Amino acid sequence: MFTAFVVERDAPGLSIGKEEHKMGIIGSSTCPVTLDKVPVPVENVLGEIGAGHRVAFNILNVGRLKLGAGCLGAMKSVIAQTIPYAKQRQQFGRAIASFGLIQQKIADMAIATYVLDSLIYRSAGLIAAQLATLSPEAEDYDQQVIKGIEEFAVECSIAKVFGSEKLDLAVDEMVQIYGGYGFIEESPAPRAYRDARINRIFEGTNEINRLLIPDTLMRRANRGQLPLMQAVEQVVGNLLAPLSPLMEHDDNPLHLEQQMIERCKQAALLCAGISVQTHQQALAEQQEILGFIADMTIELYAAESALLRALKHHAGGDEHANALRLDMTRSWCRELPEKIERLGTQTLAASVEGDALSMPLAALKKLTRVTPVNGVTLKRNVAEALIGAERYPL
Ligand SMILES: Cc1cc2nc3c(=O)[nH]c(=O)nc-3n(C[C@H](O)[C@H](O)[C@H](O)COP(=O)(O)OP(=O)(O)OC[C@H]3O[C@@H](n4cnc5c(N)ncnc54)[C@H](O)[C@@H]3O)c2cc1C
Repeated sequence: MFTAFVVERDAPGLSIGKEEHKMGIIGSSTCPVTLDKVPVPVENVLGEIGAGHRVAFNILNVGRLKLGAGCLGAMKSVIAQTIPYAKQRQQFGRAIASFGLIQQKIADMAIATYVLDSLIYRSAGLIAAQLATLSPEAEDYDQQVIKGIEEFAVECSIAKVFGSEKLDLAVDEMVQIYGGYGFIEESPAPRAYRDARINRIFEGTNEINRLLIPDTLMRRANRGQLPLMQAVEQVVGNLLAPLSPLMEHDDNPLHLEQQMIERCKQAALLCAGISVQTHQQALAEQQEILGFIADMTIELYAAESALLRALKHHAGGDEHANALRLDMTRSWCRELPEKIERLGTQTLAASVEGDALSMPLAALKKLTRVTPVNGVTLKRNVAEALIGAERYPL
């Protein structure tokens, strides 16, 4: 039990240590703060005495969503600093931006940015919609806000993990596209590379956030707030039923991807459900499996967010932007089944063996089987749009 409070900087017993010499974000001040028998007036207590964890966790929830949004801004900036260089840098008599392997990197950065953008807007929208149902006049409004945000703890952790890891990929590719110059302090790449790294550490490390995702989902399921095990039972019940082929639909340009996501959800539920049944309470000690389940949850939420956003825009708006969103969504979603198959296989193999493994493994493979598309063309289309705009254009 601990209590949240605020104290003034000059409170007796409070001392601030030397400025830390950091790897990155050196524009931000970081110092150790020591509290030694600091008297805390009762009016300085935040929330209830002994309930500081609620204040802390909620600050972390909002902080994690904002961290994801911050990473998104950084990714857009990285793209805007990378493309002009790739267009200007000549090798073998051509701009490096014209090479397929460079275009692939630009497309990967852009697609990850689009997916993160979609995920952040979706989560922020869900939280805003929830808070809009509350009455600011209510006596317990603050408590309701805390409870309302708490509902989206999983989405906030996803934003943090996904955002920080995609930004790290983007800055890594930025250094690579800048080549040797990217390793030289004079170029913008080293600073971006160093500044990005802390995002995987603060606001709860990505390991802790990964553990929180299945833990929160399972606690909700145990409280009857989430019909997780019913969903698992339904998937298991349908295991032997033949799967109809994935169909195109005239009115929905992403109908195939939508069906793919649904099947991947079933596959993830199946694997997570089997691991919960096998390990039960001891699952908390199987961090690697919890990590696989977290990654499947993150991948599904990310893909679905991208798809929902592309479909929402498809009804109207700019034709070029819509085409770009469709290409980015298709490219991302088409890679989803392979990721779920890999993570699901690892989850199952770490949970069951022999005959108990072969049936769910076959079902997993069936649910994640897709006809490959030409991902090279999709990514070239994306890169072309970005190179033309010299920035992330959406
Ligand atoms: C620049 C900077 C600014 C910061 N600003 C703030 C701030 O404003 N407010 C604030 O409160 N904190 C702040 N922090 C602290 C930051 O939140 C912590 O550093 C971070 O949460 C990690 O904690 P730790 O450093 O104690 O690492 P540790 O807990 O020692 O972790 C070390 C490694 O072990 C892993 N690990 C730890 N526990 C587990 C576990 N149970 N299971 C699996 N793996 C585990 C971690 O994921 C990590 O990889 C800041 C840190 C930095 C560097």
